[in-house]
Amino acid sequence: MNTEPDARSIWIATTPSTSYPSLGHDIEVDTVVVGGGIAGISIAHMLKESGQTVALIEKDRIIEGTTGNTTAKVTSLHGITYAKLTKRFGEAGARLYGEANEAAISKIEEIIHQYAIDCDFSRLPAYTYAQTKDDTAKVRQEAEAALQVGLPASFVENVPLPYETFGAVMFENQAQFHVRKYLLALAEIINSDGSSAFEHTTALDIHTDGQGNYQLITDKGIVSAKDIVVATHKPFYDPKGTYKDLFEFKDYALGVYIEEPTPQGEFFSTGKEPHSVRYQPTDKGDVIIIGGKSEAEMAADTPEEAFRLTKEDYNTKFTIKQVGYQWFTEDYATKDGVPYIGRLLSNDKHIYVATGFNGWGMTSGVLAGMILSDRITGQSNPWSVFFDTFTRESYRIG
Ligand SMILES: Cc1cc2nc3c(=O)[nH]c(=O)nc-3n(C[C@H](O)[C@H](O)[C@H](O)COP(=O)(O)OP(=O)(O)OC[C@H]3O[C@@H](n4cnc5c(N)ncnc54)[C@H](O)[C@@H]3O)c2cc1C
Repeated sequence: MNTEPDARSIWIATTPSTSYPSLGHDIEVDTVVVGGGIAGISIAHMLKESGQTVALIEKDRIIEGTTGNTTAKVTSLHGITYAKLTKRFGEAGARLYGEANEAAISKIEEIIHQYAIDCDFSRLPAYTYAQTKDDTAKVRQEAEAALQVGLPASFVENVPLPYETFGAVMFENQAQFHVRKYLLALAEIINSDGSSAFEHTTALDIHTDGQGNYQLITDKGIVSAKDIVVATHKPFYDPKGTYKDLFEFKDYALGVYIEEPTPQGEFFSTGKEPHSVRYQPTDKGDVIIIGGKSEAEMAADTPEEAFRLTKEDYNTKFTIKQVGYQWFTEDYATKDGVPYIGRLLSNDKHIYVATGFNGWGMTSGVLAGMILSDRITGQSNPWSVFFDTFTRESYRIG
């Protein structure tokens, strides 16, 4: 048996690759969405659902960027978040953040049922556990802050992991899925009836005539549209430098087979070097996806060194029989811990952005679809003011 780990993520390794054409000629649609990750595909899909024609533009292949290399926990429990958000934006802001992320989980489930998408979706509890005794108060506080704003939170002493932990905040009824199985199905739905997905097409610039006509300039032609959405992870178009301070972080993941029974839940930990654990069912048995952000890993000279350090670290927690997959990717964080989903420029209501998901893009990307499809089609949306780059500050209290 080949025991060398697959150097692709479990999501990419277990699904077919795509072959959408490149643009090749000029076209006109209602909205053009740039970026074929969870944000771009969710936005394009929801706009199409609302009756628009859309073009999805991807410079490489879709779902092979950060979304193809994620760990795909689908949860509104984002490490330690609600205590911080309550301090910064009051209970009102923290409530909107929690509500919006819970709504995104329900939206994913609704879409899966609507189109009968086979993507290993399951509901399960999520935990942020304390790595040290000193952190117990922190997770207890997080449980209280989250409960206070209406989330399904509680503090638990016992965490179903085979190594020592010091209590956790648990959210009930969270979820996980196979992210590429889910999004490949949505991309096919997008690519029909006057709407299309294009790969190997790089967006270069945005032009407007000031009369409400917009053009996305790509290396393979021009897309004319009424609205443009930039969902390229870090925005490719940022004429005012609004998004230059997004903080990039890299993270490593391993998909391993272990001796111990599969931990029932999805887990993240406190601490500067957090641990992350979830499982993914496969026909060869459950793969346990482990990762984190160890400072030693970040200082490693090569990815191989980082993978070795990750394995060594987790071998003190589980008995690893085999590493099946190993991969790494990066995400972007905002200073205030809330993504930017809304106008890209303060003075333009037809260019939108979705970025800065802080390591939690499965719900944030889908939320971007919900907020931006409403904004572009003129519907009101309860979360749009809070997530917009230029109106969020109205919630700030600290
Ligand atoms: C290791 C790791 C684990 C994670 N685990 C989780 C998790 O368990 N749960 C969770 O919720 N979140 C998780 N995240 C975060 C989440 O994966 C990301 O926030 C999310 O995938 C980002 O999606 P996106 O669509 O914004 O970006 P991407 O998936 O990167 O998509 C952007 C796309 O735009 C394309 N593009 C860029 N520039 C151009 C251009 N000029 N023209 C055309 N196309 C362009 C890129 O090629 C890319 O395909 C994790 C992040 C990391 C780093």
